[in-house]
Amino acid sequence: MNSIDLHTHSHFSDGELSPTDLVATASQQGVTVMALTDHDTIAGLDEAYLAAKHHAMQLIAGVEITARWTNRDIHVVGVNFNPNHPALIQFLDAQAQRRATRAQAIIEKLQQLGCDNVAQKIQQMGALDAITRAHFAKYLVEQGFAKDFKSAFKKYLATGKPAFVATDWPSMTAVIDIIQQAGGQAILAHPGRYELSRTKLRLLIEQFKAAGGDAMEVITSNHTTDQVLSMAKLAEEFHLLASSGSDFHGPSLVHARLGRLPTLPKCCRAIWANWSLTDSSKDEAQL
Ligand code: AMP
Ligand code: MN
Ligand code: MN
Ligand code: MN
Repeated sequence: MNSIDLHTHSHFSDGELSPTDLVATASQQGVTVMALTDHDTIAGLDEAYLAAKHHAMQLIAGVEITARWTNRDIHVVGVNFNPNHPALIQFLDAQAQRRATRAQAIIEKLQQLGCDNVAQKIQQMGALDAITRAHFAKYLVEQGFAKDFKSAFKKYLATGKPAFVATDWPSMTAVIDIIQQAGGQAILAHPGRYELSRTKLRLLIEQFKAAGGDAMEVITSNHTTDQVLSMAKLAEEFHLLASSGSDFHGPSLVHARLGRLPTLPKCCRAIWANWSLTDSSKDEAQL
């Protein structure tokens, strides 16, 4: 039976491992089907494909795209697209430009707040493509400005905080469209993490579906057992496929464990149910 993990990060964005080490680690944990889903970049895919071949793992093309929904940032995971699709490449180039401009603005804000050598320290962290707020959080913790990641966001980086920089991310609809234009499927990432009221969460899921979205993450590392069941019911109600991914960022971040994911509740239709997987994964699809 396959072990499937459709949400992981490498050092091409804010993950700790190279795609090679990420794939090797996932393989050791028994993962047989994995998507690399870096933030707004697919630059790590070629390396991941090579590593996956070595470990006889099935690698799925993936990306986690930042989008705007009402006045919030949300994440949409795209899987199984053509990574050479010109319009997708152009779209991700524009995202990279937004990230670079935002990173520069965050650096300036942090310097005004008394932080030193921000640009150099961030560069030393070695993100090969996308700089995220997680890099700035790491800086703030390492330099003693915050006691942990959570408080770095709470004190500096979260929406409205002193080092927050608003960014004109594309709309949720535009993100779903580009993933599908490239032949992929769009998954609403970690719906339990947006701290939405029940009403707002339902509205988000309803509008994601109305915009043509394919699936939502039912299993993700920070969903409690109750949340898994509640997300499974919402997926069923809104006729969305269900996905499962750890959102693994690296070995030092213990909350997200690569490939050690619970199985989807019975009412779910797995996004991979009609994929051509090489192993006996259909067992896990719970059709
Ligand atoms: P960005 O896409 O640049 O806004 O950065 C988002 C990334 O920052 C997420 O993928 C997480 O890795 C991290 N992150 C966001 N919010 C938090 C939080 N409250 N606590 C810890 N990490 C967070
Ligand atoms: Mn991240
Ligand atoms: Mn995310
Ligand atoms: Mn993620």
